[in-house]
Amino acid sequence: MASPKKNTSLIDLKDVGKSFRTADGTNRAVLEDVDFVLKEGEIVALLGKSGSGKSTLLRILAGLIPADRGHVRYRGQPLYGPARGIAMVFQSFALFPWLTVQQNVELGLEAQGIAKAERAERAEAAIELIGLAGFEGALPRELSGGMRQRVGIARALVMNPDILLMDEAFSALDVLTGETLRNDMLELWDSGKTPMKGLLVVSHNIEEAVLMADRVLIFSSDPGRVRVEIPIRLQRPRNPDSMEVRALIDEVYAQMTLSPAELAAIETGAEVPVAMSYRLPDAEVSQMEGLLEMLAEAPFDGHADLPQLAEEAGLSDEELLPVYEALRLLELVHIAQGDINLSSLGRHYYQADQALRRDIFGQQLLLHVPLAGEIRHSLEQEDDGELREEPFLRRLEEFMEEEEAERVLNVAIEWGRYGEVYEYDYHTGMLKLPETE
Ligand code: ADP
Ligand code: MG
Repeated sequence: MASPKKNTSLIDLKDVGKSFRTADGTNRAVLEDVDFVLKEGEIVALLGKSGSGKSTLLRILAGLIPADRGHVRYRGQPLYGPARGIAMVFQSFALFPWLTVQQNVELGLEAQGIAKAERAERAEAAIELIGLAGFEGALPRELSGGMRQRVGIARALVMNPDILLMDEAFSALDVLTGETLRNDMLELWDSGKTPMKGLLVVSHNIEEAVLMADRVLIFSSDPGRVRVEIPIRLQRPRNPDSMEVRALIDEVYAQMTLSPAELAAIETGAEVPVAMSYRLPDAEVSQMEGLLEMLAEAPFDGHADLPQLAEEAGLSDEELLPVYEALRLLELVHIAQGDINLSSLGRHYYQADQALRRDIFGQQLLLHVPLAGEIRHSLEQEDDGELREEPFLRRLEEFMEEEEAERVLNVAIEWGRYGEVYEYDYHTGMLKLPETE
């Protein structure tokens, strides 16, 4: 029989929006129309590009920042600030280095005015639950990364939360440590030894999301909202090599690797080309060429299942997704339904010598990246073929915050230099036309 509480909603978000003020004083929407329910008994994973607002959403749920618009409810009540039942685990361990494990874990209880004896008892219990018994007196620097993150989790568990929010809590750890800790968390979840009723996990790792969650939500960027929901009805623990799990991983990959044009088509019904507001993916040319070569050669011979390519490359989704996006943007690969194929241009590129590769790269850049086109065109208008970078930064800041604008311009500069579309002087911050012309 299904538990009668199964449909009780723990967290309920309706039309939630959040904006931040950018450097030039305008507001930029980070979250818009976010609708989301976390039900009792559920693990939900949240995936999305970096900068899509996942951490902002978690901070709203943790009551650390208010939403600008919409309703945020916890057990049916509007959430106005930190709620007792909601605790958060962060990616960076953020432990106080001068406090012992026990003292770090007790800290939140102290703030709640809980008496010393009870604090000690509850902290010990939480420390034991997460497998750190015997380390109560240790200082953070005496612990490995994995153990430090266990302290981070104990610090959340000690509050006896019924909802735990985890913001990429495993991603700062090496793969094996992350996996072990994730499995321990799932065991703890199933054990019923904690009052946890709902778990919301932000992840960068597609396999992790599929292995953990009852539902995977994929966030769109600019502004962030729930774009797709993929229910997962398999029993835990799940076998990562089983057909069902592989198929789900493929499905999530397919959703995560949609091109900007495909995404626009889903949103508006019409394919639109990449615009100035497009945030160029954080991919280096060497990574792009490395992956392209791997794809072109045996055993893939131009065609791969994305999860398999990731495994062969030994890289994380966080590292690979921007590289896929870059390769597809320049039409060197096609990506669909969780598969990646070398395009005919991609094969040509693979076989080309360095000079021809640069030519192709530059030509594709001008064709598909409006920012590169605008830089090149502007330089051609100048008598001396030179311009400061600032006007381009200001232009990008119409669409994104300062730091992101710098990152995007930097990518455009690196790619443009490689494709010999323009030059850049790191001392003066001047962009200029290549000298050979
Ligand atoms: P994610 O966790 O999905 O990577 P974040 O929620 O951290 O995304 O950030 C979403 C966007 O909001 C980013 O562009 C980020 O720079 C911006 N942002 C987050 N917090 C602030 C803030 N306090 N002030 C201004 N901008 C912010
Ligand atoms: Mg984040």
